[in-house]
Amino acid sequence: MATNRTFTMIKPDAVENNYIGGILKMINDAGFRIVALKYTKLSTEAAGKFYEVHKERPFYGELVTYMSNGPIVAAILEKDNAVADFRTLIGATDPTKADEGTIRKIYAKSIAANAVHGSDSDENAQIEGDFFFSKLERF
Ligand code: GDP
Repeated sequence: MATNRTFTMIKPDAVENNYIGGILKMINDAGFRIVALKYTKLSTEAAGKFYEVHKERPFYGELVTYMSNGPIVAAILEKDNAVADFRTLIGATDPTKADEGTIRKIYAKSIAANAVHGSDSDENAQIEGDFFFSKLERF
């Protein structure tokens, strides 16, 4: 059964470029409610664990280095059909292939530094939200 929550991160490239406010505004304007929010930095070890599902992919090392290179903003978001609607809002992994008006089209630099993360399933949204937030940090 589909749940109404997803998980996102504003990635280090977008934080460094001062896009936090612009991205959060797009998220709110698209009808998502912020359930939990945290400004933090992943250690290499934590980034490696978060992206463990991509361990066998050739870019895993590069991804872990990039994601632990600077602060990120983590959030749990709520809306009907949250996972699918958020994937639509962020656009394709490669910003050159992302639709006009999507977050990655507007804010992403490259396929590696692509501004935002969005969960790809309800199951992963749950796992990823639990990675960052306790029950007391959700509203
Ligand atoms: P997503 O679900 O759209 O984020 O895409 P994936 O699950 O396929 O990949 C996870 C993340 O790995 C992406 O968001 C990128 O940050 C990174 N990534 C994907 N493909 C590549 C690639 O070819 N090279 C590098 N360096 N990073 C990649």
